[in-house]
Amino acid sequence: MILAPYLADQFTDLCDDIYLTKPLQISLCHCRECRKATGGTTSLNLTVPSSAFILKSGNLRTVTKKHLDEGFEFSLSFCEECSSPIYTALCAQPSIKIIQAGTLDDEFIMETVPAVELNIWKRVGWMSQVDLAEQKNRYT
Ligand SMILES: [Zn+2]
Repeated sequence: MILAPYLADQFTDLCDDIYLTKPLQISLCHCRECRKATGGTTSLNLTVPSSAFILKSGNLRTVTKKHLDEGFEFSLSFCEECSSPIYTALCAQPSIKIIQAGTLDDEFIMETVPAVELNIWKRVGWMSQVDLAEQKNRYT
């Protein structure tokens, strides 16, 4: 069984063209933790209120650790069965979750240009910056 995470009010209306619940932020993160969590060079992250996330089925396995570069504590939650990364949570900010967009079925969200690129000091050399995205060397 594969988990199907979704946002409580869903991303689209019945016509599939209007957002009912927008993420607080869409970011592209280049940090080492996002690389390790996703197995890729970046993670497309949706910051959402924790209350907007509902797990439809299955169970999560959660590990807590310290950020490799920044030192803050955070948790990574994976599908217990297939090990897909589902979300990251910052221990100091339990009111938000950071969902890895690639786990969602909604491809429209992946076509949305991220508002910000984070940790660009770790961007791999062959990757260009995203036009229109604010550039942040770290998280701020
Ligand atoms: Zn990151």
